Amino acid sequence: MFEKVTAAPADPILGLTDAFRKDPRTDKINLGVGIYKDEAGQTPVLRCVKKAEARLVQEQTTKNYLSIEGIEAYGRVVQQLLFGADSAIIAGQRARTAQAPGGTGALRIAGEFIARQLETNTIWISNPTWANHRAVFTAAGLEVKEYGYYNADAKDLDFDAMLADLAHAKAGDVVLLHGCCHNPTGIDPTEAQWQQLAKLSAEKGWLPLFDFAYQGFAKGIEEDAYGLRVFAEHNVELLIASSFSKNFGMYNERVGAFTLVAKDAETANTSFSQVKGIIRANYSNPPSHGANVVAIIANDPELYQDWLAELAEMRDRIQEMRTLFVEKLSSRGVNKDFSFIARQNGMFSFSGLNKEQVARLKDEFGIYIVGSGRISVAGITKSNIDALCDALAAIV
Ligand code: PLP
Repeated sequence: MFEKVTAAPADPILGLTDAFRKDPRTDKINLGVGIYKDEAGQTPVLRCVKKAEARLVQEQTTKNYLSIEGIEAYGRVVQQLLFGADSAIIAGQRARTAQAPGGTGALRIAGEFIARQLETNTIWISNPTWANHRAVFTAAGLEVKEYGYYNADAKDLDFDAMLADLAHAKAGDVVLLHGCCHNPTGIDPTEAQWQQLAKLSAEKGWLPLFDFAYQGFAKGIEEDAYGLRVFAEHNVELLIASSFSKNFGMYNERVGAFTLVAKDAETANTSFSQVKGIIRANYSNPPSHGANVVAIIANDPELYQDWLAELAEMRDRIQEMRTLFVEKLSSRGVNKDFSFIARQNGMFSFSGLNKEQVARLKDEFGIYIVGSGRISVAGITKSNIDALCDALAAIV
């Protein structure tokens, strides 16, 4: 039977990492996958995570199963990070959170909840967006539609196209928004645009689904939640998929969360009972390690401050690389304006390089970036930036 199975195409991003690993060149550079690298090109375990892990191992008394929704203290931390510690949503118990295996797991739960429990079957995602969005929502049984997002000439948000496309979204349709650090463009709505979108969403009756994978990577924990919190002021119902893969550097621990906000505690609980059914049939209950680490850090004032400082270190290093990258390209006389890279948020930049240039970077220079031209700025370091800029100067 298996002989009849045809090969699936390689995942565009993880496939690139495989190709990178196999490349024998010693000066190769991987700017494909969105993983933070420090100045030494390493992805170290955060110091606060190491400390929390030591404490966890010391104090842990059982490996018993967690409940379907996971660790309660973790759920509280997730909600505080999303809505702010003194949020009326938390006080009114209008939100319910389930620990999930990564942001991807949370998105899948969201997709299945929408497909099975809500009247709509349609989700609107930005064009472009994280490559896995379409796959996750299609697998959950949703019909995926796109709204415009990126103005390639202005290298900025195409807000008019976004509004024009979303004018076709019906009441009850789900609209996916990136909480901050839009992947892959690095361009987020301005505060005024967030306000406008939030009001429009409430007027039109869309159900907003926030994908929040980079909180703290644009400006800071509180600042980056601006869009979500404005939406929460205007919309009584919301879904959120959180990921702590990047901001806690716990990529392989699969630490995420699915949060549902309803008009009151009772409605939230009833809807959440269905979410638990979805989880039970998928992976039964979540793994504990990463979520425990997050809960320990967030509930210890000293470790929490350490985390904020380490997050700021990552954010500042990326920002420094953005500025340096733009400077070094212009000092090489590159006849193309790359200044927009310094204005974008988070790990990624849409470089504007075409497929042919991307292929030349790989073949001639051993520099790996995604076919769309997305560069993971988090992979640029002071030791590889000159080689990168030389290569770009040669091909642009
Ligand atoms: N959403 C976006 C926008 C992402 O960029 C990513 C990871 O790259 C995810 C979700 C998935 O996060 P996780 O690795 O926690 O599943």
